[in-house]
Amino acid sequence: MVHIVGAGPGAPDLITVRGKELLERADVIIYAGSLVNPALLEYRKAQCQVYDSAKMTLEEVIAVMAEAEREGKMTVRLHTGDPCIYGAIREQMDELEERGIPYDVCPGVSSFCGAASSLKMEYTLPKVTQSVIITRMAGRTPVPERESIASFAAHGATMVIFLSTGMLDQLSEELIKGGYLPDTPAAIVYKATWEDEKTINCTVESLSASAKRENIKKTALILVGNAVAQNGYERSKLYDPVFTTEYRKGTGDD
Ligand code: SAH
Repeated sequence: MVHIVGAGPGAPDLITVRGKELLERADVIIYAGSLVNPALLEYRKAQCQVYDSAKMTLEEVIAVMAEAEREGKMTVRLHTGDPCIYGAIREQMDELEERGIPYDVCPGVSSFCGAASSLKMEYTLPKVTQSVIITRMAGRTPVPERESIASFAAHGATMVIFLSTGMLDQLSEELIKGGYLPDTPAAIVYKATWEDEKTINCTVESLSASAKRENIKKTALILVGNAVAQNGYERSKLYDPVFTTEYRKGTGDD
C-alpha cells in the first residue's frame, strides 16, 4: 500500500502523529527533497529505502511504488505541507488506481498555516476580511485567465501567494492593478517553521525590494491584505458576553 503523507511546513515535529507513525513503519520513503525537511527521515527504520523525488520523473516514482507493491512493501510518499495544495498528487493517484495499487492520503500542516503561526496572525479578522485566497502567479504551470492575481485582488481579502517569489515586481503590479493600494500591508515568510525562517513585514509596493534586501528567492509565501496588519478588527460574536450561543447564555438576553 502507498500512503501519501503531508510532511508539514518544515519543523520536523509539525508532521501529524499519523504521518510520523507511517514514516516509522515504511519500507520505502519517496520524499520531495526540494522542500521536505530531511530531518523527518530520521523517523525511518534502519532497512528503509529512501528516494528523493526531486531527481525523479512521475514515471520513475510510480515504478518505485509498483516494485515495492510487488514485494509486499509499504511506501510513504512524503510531500511538503499538505499534499492537496500544489502537491501534484492527482496524477500519482490516477497511476496507482490504474495499476490497482491501494493508497490513502494523510493530511499535513500546509505552509500557509505555518506562515500564519510564524507571524502570530489570524487570516480571517471580523470586519477586515472573512476570506483567504490561495493562489500563485503563472509560471511553467499556467493559471487560468479568470484567476488572474488582479481579479482576486479586487476582493480585498487576505491573499496567500505560493510559488511566486521569483516574480515579485510583476506580482505587485498585478495586485495594484486589481485594487490593492500600494501601501497595503504585506509579508514575506521564508521557510516558515524551519530553523532559518525569516519573516518580513512590508507593503504591496515594496515586496520585491524587501525580498532582494533579504536575498530571498524561493521557498517563501507572500501574504497580502489589510489582515496582515492585524488591526482594525471587531471582536468575535462567539466570545462576546452579550451574545447567546449554542453552548452559553449571554447577558444580552436578560
Ligand atoms: N503542499 C505545499 C505547497 C507546495 S508548493 C504546502 O501545503 O505548503 C511549494 C511552494 O510552497 C513554495 O514555492 C513556497 O511558495 C511554499 N512553501 C512551502 N513550504 C514553505 C515554507 N516552509 N515557508 C514558506 N513557503 C513555503
